[in-house]
Amino acid sequence: MNKKLFVISGCSGVGKGTVLKKFMSGNADNFMVSISCTTRSPRPGEIDGVNYFFVTKEEFINSINENKFLEYAEFAGNYYGTKKKFIKQKLEEGMNVILEIETQGALQVKKQMPEAVLIFIAPPSLEELEHRLRGRHTEDEASIQKRLNEVKVEFERSKLYDYVVLNDNVERAASELESITAKELSM
Ligand code: 5GP
Repeated sequence: MNKKLFVISGCSGVGKGTVLKKFMSGNADNFMVSISCTTRSPRPGEIDGVNYFFVTKEEFINSINENKFLEYAEFAGNYYGTKKKFIKQKLEEGMNVILEIETQGALQVKKQMPEAVLIFIAPPSLEELEHRLRGRHTEDEASIQKRLNEVKVEFERSKLYDYVVLNDNVERAASELESITAKELSM
């Protein structure tokens, strides 16, 4: 069976990480979540090579110039990108690959790989989203404001996605994700 690339996006604080974790707990045999490169600093508990490949801005720009990224974007003051080689290798190893990336990058992926499936995780409401973002206590106020400003833009871009999943409940959203991937893989 063909292996597929799934791209999951959602506004900061929407809980896409939790939904994805739930989904992966039952699907780790066939799916893997890609590890991105970023220039942002690790948050407490984050490990280089596990959560991200943490790189300097100079290293990131060199990789851009060497055309090593399938997609990349600047988001809330930092660079984030997916290496082509990493994705190609995982698909060849027989894994379905999930990219958890923001919307600019997702639309770049769709251009280059139209067979990629784009899924947007939407929050129940904007108030709920702000509440969750502040509750994480991982960002300072300026960073929270930047992220909230991105929300509107991300919603607009979500219209170009293949699926929108409402995260009103983690179990339900994860199970919807399960149905979508199963349907896509059977096509
Ligand atoms: P965070 O700093 O909270 O880990 O991530 C910020 C945003 O960057 C999230 O929306 C996340 O999905 C996105 N992101 C993470 N890795 C990548 C990537 O490789 N490319 C793009 N375009 N966005 C990414």
